[in-house]
This record gives sequence, structure tokens and C-alpha cells, in this order.
Amino acid sequence: MSDVSISEARPTKKARTNIVATVGPACQSPEMLRELIRSGVDVFRINTAHGTRAEHQATFDAVHAASNDCKRPVGVLIDLAGPKIRLGQLLQDPTECPLGAEFRFIRGDTPGNANEFTCTYESLVAELAVGDRVMLADGTVSLQVLEKDESSARCIVTGAGVVRSRQGVNLPGVSLTVPAMTEADISNAIWAAQAGADFISLSFVRSPVEVRQLKELVQSHGSRALVIAKIEKGEALEHLDEIVLAAGGIMVARGDLGVETDIAETPVIQKRIIEVCQQLAKPVIVATQMLDSMQDSPRPTRAEVSDIANAILDGADACMLSGETAIGKFPRESVDMMHRVMLSTERTLERTQGEHIPIAALSGVHPITAATVYGASEIASRVNAKLIVIATKGGGTARIKAKFRSAIPVVGVSDNEATLRRMTLFWGILPLPGAPVGDGPALREFIDNWGRASGVLVKGDRVVYVTGSDVIAHAHNVVVVQEVQ
Ligand code: PGA
Ligand code: MN
Repeated sequence: MSDVSISEARPTKKARTNIVATVGPACQSPEMLRELIRSGVDVFRINTAHGTRAEHQATFDAVHAASNDCKRPVGVLIDLAGPKIRLGQLLQDPTECPLGAEFRFIRGDTPGNANEFTCTYESLVAELAVGDRVMLADGTVSLQVLEKDESSARCIVTGAGVVRSRQGVNLPGVSLTVPAMTEADISNAIWAAQAGADFISLSFVRSPVEVRQLKELVQSHGSRALVIAKIEKGEALEHLDEIVLAAGGIMVARGDLGVETDIAETPVIQKRIIEVCQQLAKPVIVATQMLDSMQDSPRPTRAEVSDIANAILDGADACMLSGETAIGKFPRESVDMMHRVMLSTERTLERTQGEHIPIAALSGVHPITAATVYGASEIASRVNAKLIVIATKGGGTARIKAKFRSAIPVVGVSDNEATLRRMTLFWGILPLPGAPVGDGPALREFIDNWGRASGVLVKGDRVVYVTGSDVIAHAHNVVVVQEVQ
């Protein structure tokens, strides 16, 4: 086991799998944000399910400031809560739900007694049917509907536990008519677009139409943020390919997914979602409970570290931390641990170098771009290159390269700052700010200098460049091999 001191790590010692960290009270101070960036965070998630607009804006500004201080592009992901249903105020908080006890979901928001529940979705009682399952508090309590009338649904406890006010309500297998975005989501999406978010994620996606609607909304407000579809409902799995095609990226949102579908299925569902993202060349984030026990402990469980390693081996571009960084006692230790597991897992990938996916499997990508990047990766390994440089305007070329994993380090350069931040989600791409992209000789000198300073390159090393079309008119991409002077 190598003992890399992450905080002192040079940029190239950075894991190729990216870390998305959720911001919350435990990490939102400027010092802690900087520490987390230095420990390996690539993207911060701002969860709009909690907090006010003013707080979200302050967090956004603090992340940008920390990114500038650390001289490292850091992405911002704004997470929209979507149609998440929550319990209303309980009369008795917390409420014990013993096996066989009966509770009633009623309309409105004032329970008449301790056995009555209200919720944030006003049509719930109307849409429930006898036999439906209702899961509360992340699936810790399960109920089944026994009887229903105009004003209420009588339920029996089939899985005992304790519930608290405002905890989540999941209805596995029930198709709800609830709109994909609440008014708050629409307002948050417009704010995120105008604030300059790099990624905007939508919770509880059910169909590709919902993804396209958000994309249009965001674009109509001048943003080119990637729309991330959170896969956490069984209905989404029925339209997985179309959703992945419509989205800019995907999140395997295992928290709600493990309640909405059989929890025993989540590992194979994760693999299936990642496989589709590989075929359709879209970035994919694996989320929730990756280091859950580190909310309270400085050491993870064996199962948790295995989970991170397996997500990488499955093909994830990024792993996400939720409560670990937002409200846990050990935010920095959690990032350090995730980063260490990534580095050691990635060392085993170096041995599988050369196992490329077939170009024919890529859809939605210009075949010339895909072929060029594939060829560049091949050339790089044949000439024993020490670095691949991808010059990209919008990040598309880097997105494809991320799906052709190789052991050779890759940097992404762009004259567009949003593109640099976008690349924070792509596997194995280190976004490098400040490169003179349009000027071949200057770019080469910049890379040589950076490579020597960071210890990646020495004189005589070969570097493969994949650059845009400016070199030859009407050409797509150009591959150039150069030796460090
Ligand atoms: P959440 O999404 O943390 O916003 O619920 C992730 C998940 O459900 O896994
Ligand atoms: Mn969720």
C-alpha cells in the first residue's frame, strides 16, 4: 500500500476517477473547500433540496473562489430535488411504527391524531390504490394500502421502524402524475443556468422527455450546462437508453433507487446503467453511501472501500460523497480515503491497457472524432508516449477519450473556462487551465514546461496531441506526436 500524502500530491498524482462532493455545513467554509479540492474533489454538488437561494449562491461563490485560490478548475453541480415526496409535520415526532399497526394518509396538511400522516404531494391519496406499497424514511418503514376512500388511505405496517417529520416517501412501482419539475425546481434551474452551473441534475427522472425539457429550459437561459439525469426510479430503467441519449450525463442515485426498486438489484442495475453510458459515451456518477460509515468514523468499512473500487472497475467516471462531506464528522478524511482507493484501483487498470471499446458502439458522437481519439490512444501506447494532450472547444473530444481508458496520463486544454470545468467529470482527463490552445508552437512549449515542472515529462519524452480543426481547413481532428525539447 503506497502512502501518498494526498494534500501534497502533484496534479498528476490526482486520481483519474473524479470525486463529486456534496457541500453542506461540514465543509462550506473557504478553508475546508480549499482542503477538499487539494485532497482530490473535482466537482461540488449543491443540493437545492436543502437551504435557501441566498445560501446556494453563497456556496457557489465560495466554490469558485476556492477553485481560483487552488488554481484548479472545479465543476459545480446544482441538484434539483424533482418530485420528491416528503411527510408533513407529524403530530408525534418521531413516530414509532410497529409491525401490524395501522396509519392513515389523509388529504391536507393537518393530521387529526398521531396515526394520521400528511405529505407534500396533494394527489397522493387520490392516486394510491389498495395493495400499493408506501416506503418511508429511505425505506426503513414499509406500509401497504389496505383500504381507500375519498379522503384517506388506510395502511398497515409491513416493515417496522421509526419515522420523523419531513422524511421521504417512496412509492415503488406506482406511476404518479406528478410533474417532473416543481415550481421550485424550475426557479432553481433558471438560477443555476444564470449563475453558470457546469452540471444540473434532475432527481426522479422517468422519461427522456423530462430530460429534454430541462435541457431546453437551461439552454433558453443561455447555459450550456450538462443535464445529469438521476436514475432512481424503476420507470427510468424502462427507458434507459433514450434517457442516456437525451442527457449530458447520468447519476446512479442508489439512495432512492434502493427504495424504489428491490435493493438486492442495485448492484446489477448499477452495472447496466454504466454499460449503457459506456456505449453511448456519456459520463456517469455513482452516488450514495460510498463511505457512509465515515460520517461518524475516521475509518471506512471493507465493504465501502470495495464499493468504490468496483464502481471504477464497472466504468464510472466519478464517485460521489453525500452526507460524508455535507454533514459528517470527517469530510476531509472521507475525500482522502476515496482518493486513495481510486489511486490504488487505477493502478490495476494499467495492466488492462489496450482493451478498447469498439468504435461502432459509440453513438451520438461524430465517427471521425471517435476514430481519431481511438487512434491517438493507440498511437500513444505504441510510441510509449508519456502524455496525451486533448485540445477541445466544447469538451466533446475529451468526453470520448474518457471512454477509451488508458494508462497514459491525459490533459485537456481549452480556451473556454466552462469547457475546462466540464472536463472535471470526465474519467482520466486532467483539465489544465491557461494553455495557448490556438497556437501550436506556444501550446507545445506550454505543455513541455508544465510537464517538466510537474515531473510528468523529461527531455525526449513523446507527447501525443489531439487538436481541433484550425490546423488544416475543413479537417476534423489532427493527431500530432512530438518529443519534449
Ligand atoms: P439525493 O440523490 O441524495 O438527492 O437523494 C442521490 C440518491 O438518491 O442516491
Ligand atoms: Mn435521490
